[in-house]
Amino acid sequence: MLLSRFPRVSLAHLPTPLEPLPRLSKHLGGPNIFVKRDDCTGLGTGGNKTRKLEFLMAEALQKKATVVVTQGAVQSNHARQTAAAACKLGMKCELVFEKRVDRPSEPYVKSGNVFLDRIYGARIREVEKGSDMNAALEAVAVELAKKGELPYVIPGGGSNKVGALGYVDCAHEFMTQANRTGLRIDHVIHATGSAGTQAGLIVGLKGTNSGIPLLGIGVNAPKDIQEERVFKLAVETAAYVGAAGTVERRDIVADCNYIGDGYGIPTEGMNEALLLLARLEGLLFDPVYSGKALAGMIDLVAKRQFNKKDNLLFIHTGGSAGLFGYSDRLKTG
Ligand SMILES: *Cc1c(COP(=O)(O)O)cnc(C)c1O
Repeated sequence: MLLSRFPRVSLAHLPTPLEPLPRLSKHLGGPNIFVKRDDCTGLGTGGNKTRKLEFLMAEALQKKATVVVTQGAVQSNHARQTAAAACKLGMKCELVFEKRVDRPSEPYVKSGNVFLDRIYGARIREVEKGSDMNAALEAVAVELAKKGELPYVIPGGGSNKVGALGYVDCAHEFMTQANRTGLRIDHVIHATGSAGTQAGLIVGLKGTNSGIPLLGIGVNAPKDIQEERVFKLAVETAAYVGAAGTVERRDIVADCNYIGDGYGIPTEGMNEALLLLARLEGLLFDPVYSGKALAGMIDLVAKRQFNKKDNLLFIHTGGSAGLFGYSDRLKTG
């Protein structure tokens, strides 16, 4: 798979480190857990969207866009990384936020990611929960075009076949790191939301015949919907990189038992996992995505879903800026 065929702009600090988590592994009594530090991609406090934006923003530049338009929840990490990328590349940024979380607290609407969006000078609009977000993006693009701008629309989470290339590349990157250090990876685990991360990873893993199973821990949709969403995008992405037919439906596995009451709503397990990793390994996770995925992985370890001698690679997709938006809702005790 030759990704250098596609336009790309450098935004991320790559390769991100692949590190062992010895104190967590010992605490759980095995398996051996490793982390891929995609929270350290560098742009505007980092996270997984930066890899996708390397390909998306390159296309925006190629099309001579003057403004990028994207959408997400108010505490969207994707919006924050897009706003930062737009600044770095001299484009404007328009954000459409869905009020996805009911009765939001003051920190949720003012701090964390949305505070950083304001620092980056992004223009913010809000729409009601359940709005057709793609239609909302299109409407903003039409309005901007009428004003003489050249808008480039990025779907929520940067999840289309262009953005997913970033995670095809990530799979190649950690396999190279594993090959160099003699690390046998038995499972890869990460948080799955808008599907681009999982779709890209599975294309990278299957297209190279790695034989490594991938598990997405869902944060939003039920299992069947999430898996279908990932599968559809994975098939498109595979065709786009010239690896059509490498991904099968059964390769897409999402465990959606750790969502709790809904997207962006804290769970006990997430809160505990977040404190555990902070106190054992000094790592910060986020309440919406990586924290829930972590809670899922820890629970699956407790339920003996993995062999004690397995090596698990957890992809840390970032999001710790979102912690400040939840400062009044997380227990630190
Ligand atoms: C967006 C996001 C995810 C999920 O990635 P998708 O490609 O949307 O599935 C996971 N973790 C964090 C911190 C994110 O911001």
